[in-house]
Amino acid sequence: MKNNEVERQPGCEDELNTGLLTVAEAQARILDAVAAVSGTETLPVREALGRVLAEDIVSPIDVPSHTNSAMDGYAVRAADLPAEGTREFPVPGTSWAGRPWLTAIEPGQAVQIMTGGMMPEGADTVVMQEHVQRDGDTVRIGTGHKPGQNVRAAGEDLASGQPVFTTGKRLTAAAIGVLASIGLAEVSVYRRLKVAFFSTGDELRAVGQPLGPGEIYDSNRYTLYGMLKKLDVEIIDMGVVRDQRELIEKAFKDAAASADAIITSGGVSVGEADFVKETLEKLGSMSFWKIAMKPGRPVTFGHINKAVFFGLPGNPVSVMVTFFQFVRPALLKMTGESSVLDAYTVAARTTTALRKRPGRYEFQRGVLEQTAPGEFSVRSAGAQGSGILRSMSEANCFILLDPDRTRVEAGEVVEVQPFQNLI
Ligand code: AMP
Ligand code: MG
Repeated sequence: MKNNEVERQPGCEDELNTGLLTVAEAQARILDAVAAVSGTETLPVREALGRVLAEDIVSPIDVPSHTNSAMDGYAVRAADLPAEGTREFPVPGTSWAGRPWLTAIEPGQAVQIMTGGMMPEGADTVVMQEHVQRDGDTVRIGTGHKPGQNVRAAGEDLASGQPVFTTGKRLTAAAIGVLASIGLAEVSVYRRLKVAFFSTGDELRAVGQPLGPGEIYDSNRYTLYGMLKKLDVEIIDMGVVRDQRELIEKAFKDAAASADAIITSGGVSVGEADFVKETLEKLGSMSFWKIAMKPGRPVTFGHINKAVFFGLPGNPVSVMVTFFQFVRPALLKMTGESSVLDAYTVAARTTTALRKRPGRYEFQRGVLEQTAPGEFSVRSAGAQGSGILRSMSEANCFILLDPDRTRVEAGEVVEVQPFQNLI
């Protein structure tokens, strides 16, 4: 993102922007203030899929453990291959994968060998089955073969004693395959993060209940639940907390007693019933930021004892945008993961014009499509209000618009951040 500086516009926008933090500054401050959890556990390799390694892994063996054939064919000594014409080789037997031919090859012999079969002692080259003529107990081999061809050396994938993975590696399918290939049954991983969340607001009702005048259903706990589910964390749903000082304080204390991270939505603006900031200040450390972004301007961040606290705004789209931009990277760091290719961006040509006022960094909801290999188009997902969850539900990306950008015409290229499968 290129939003290190907020362009100051003259006039009214300038006043609005005074003291605003950029998105990049807020991200950096949050990442600086969180660290990996300290607990670890030992798990069978399969159960460690998706978890983060808490130890360095060194290979205890050579992989492959023996020099073997990369093809079905015949193992010979390169020195015996004919310089011209063809040569007939007696075939004393076969080296199957897992059932080696244990007799050393004698000069002039060719041992039949299958893919993965151990190379007989003395043989150094494999001639593919398709390049020979087999006749009973002999095989005829011609010219054009390179010494050493079609042979996989012991340890060519991993040598015994070689570092394999370091602490902080997220275990993918390939990674647990590698752990299995070196014979490990168990590995040490960071324990799962515990994340508590609740909604604040007197107007919030749980689904399944009728709405009274002025009430709305609590949707933020559903979007937060969904986004946390993608992160393989332990989720502690604390429900809705009314806008009362004592109730908020109790919820904060309960959450801090059991969770590594606490996420709330609502109650961080300057409304009279917004107790999140003052309670955080009372119980721990509090930073309140107005971030030069849209949606999601006010965010509260801090600590209560060892727990990290994220106070997100109440508007449903703001919750999702601020979670993706600030909370998710922080939680990933807290899981112990050391390097993340996560929220990457691509360039896309917009097929719709995009309204934009200068001053704030905008995360507009878009629908990204691939039009040719490596080429993308994007269109607006619809109305962009911070309360309009429907356009968020139809979007698969954020369209990132720099603070100084104004209206974007159809056909212009914009920077897009795909989030499909991430939130
Ligand atoms: P607040 O930050 O508490 O002033 O809330 C900002 C806006 O978001 C208000 O319109 C709230 O009604 C709405 N809002 C707050 N929490 C939720 C929630 N959990 N679900 C849906 N809308 C909410
Ligand atoms: Mg509220």
